[in-house]
Amino acid sequence: ATEWRKEAVDVLGEERFLLDPASREKLSKDYYWYSPVLEPLLREKLADGVAAPTDERELAAALAFAYRHRLPITVRGAGTGNYGQAVPLEGGIVLDVSGLNRVLEIGPGYARVQCGVRMGALEKRAREQGQELRIYPSTYAKATIGGFVCGGSGGIGSISWGNLWDGNVLEAIVYTLEERPRRLTVHGADLLPYIHNYGTTGVVTELVIPLAPRVEWAQSVVSFESFDDALAVSEALAGDDSIRKRLVSAVEWPIPAFFKPLAKAFRQGAAALLLETEDGSLEAVSALAAARGGAIEHVIPPERYRQGIGLSDFTWNHTTLWALKTEPSITYLQADFSLGKVAEQARRLKAEFGDEVLLHLEWIRVSGELVPTALPLVRYTDASRLYEIVAFCESIGVVIYDPHTWILEDGGRGEANVMQRKKRENDPLGLLNPGKLRTEGA
Ligand code: FAD
Repeated sequence: ATEWRKEAVDVLGEERFLLDPASREKLSKDYYWYSPVLEPLLREKLADGVAAPTDERELAAALAFAYRHRLPITVRGAGTGNYGQAVPLEGGIVLDVSGLNRVLEIGPGYARVQCGVRMGALEKRAREQGQELRIYPSTYAKATIGGFVCGGSGGIGSISWGNLWDGNVLEAIVYTLEERPRRLTVHGADLLPYIHNYGTTGVVTELVIPLAPRVEWAQSVVSFESFDDALAVSEALAGDDSIRKRLVSAVEWPIPAFFKPLAKAFRQGAAALLLETEDGSLEAVSALAAARGGAIEHVIPPERYRQGIGLSDFTWNHTTLWALKTEPSITYLQADFSLGKVAEQARRLKAEFGDEVLLHLEWIRVSGELVPTALPLVRYTDASRLYEIVAFCESIGVVIYDPHTWILEDGGRGEANVMQRKKRENDPLGLLNPGKLRTEGA
């Protein structure tokens, strides 16, 4: 076993192949520990070595090397995934692609980038040129584009542009794991086996993603007496096409009490909306809110966009991040509520579980349809209670995407069937992130 390590250093170079325990440990972990179910199961998992290529040639050499020695390859962007997607279950090599970080081209309506480009850096570049990202996760400052496409789903901007499957990836360059890794150029429907694939069907080195025209965004916090009122207004705003928006999030009290850096923006005891809407839209927002007794409590004007902390830093799964700072035992679920029934579903959940489950919803548009998605916080006791909550959600029509599993099919997102087929073609030895796709090789 030590022999292949020596050879790896020879083939890949000392600076591009890391064997020290600190690097192996650090780069074998992601944010799986947000799940108390996954934490004890993944804590000890460790790569045998880390390959850190800085261009495609080095990356292809690492893949050919892994194939020759039958070593598993687990790709890693920034390691901000929450389901242990980037944790090497069977050791082998972690392929850290954060060094492939060049923006290759920004053109009208698109950007061509290497997979390791951070989304925040691309957003900044695009905005300097009068454009911006369409969708990005709340981890955009750190997260890589490759990691978002291969491990994420949607986020800020999804209220206007949908999630990853709504035309938000235009092209991918993908490497296979074979004796001689092939370099594929993939478009259109052929992209499906690579979106949210956890790196099981190929290694994405380059992406073309669509950009939107730059908009000046105002951020506002709107307060309401009840979560019911906040929800109703969030739905009206989400469906109002005359108001351009990037973020519509509704949170119930006491969640805002977790948002310590923004304490002054929230009213004690009040439910709230956290919004990004186009400059000049606040009057319309205010009118919608007033219909349910709501009032704008705090505004961050467009000039201060991206200067210091912003409202999106408290939404999506960042809500869990802030909650964990105050209550380390909190965890979360991922859910789609039903349009037209969301208020009733929320009431039933609260009636059943009270403050054991705390709600915040982020509205998105999927294939043109509004969807009230949510990452409910759960005051965790044990796994069986967690799955009782899941079962109750499902009994009232709330769809759960289980974040407490590393098995892609059990998480419920991504086209597992097409992935399984593609995996047999691209990864005949089943070395790409083994253990993440249930029926791999079947
Ligand atoms: P990684 O964690 O490094 O990788 C993710 C998966 O993709 C892994 O399986 C990895 O093997 C694979 N992978 C990475 N790069 C490649 C590549 N080049 N080729 C093939 N496979 C690859 N997600 C959302 O979708 N929306 C959110 O709003 C959101 N909010 C979050 C908030 C918090 C606080 C946290 C901790 C996580 C959140 N996430 C969210 C999850 C995660 O941050 C995002 O999905 C992020 O985009 C992942 O990017 P990454 O570079 O960290 O990927």
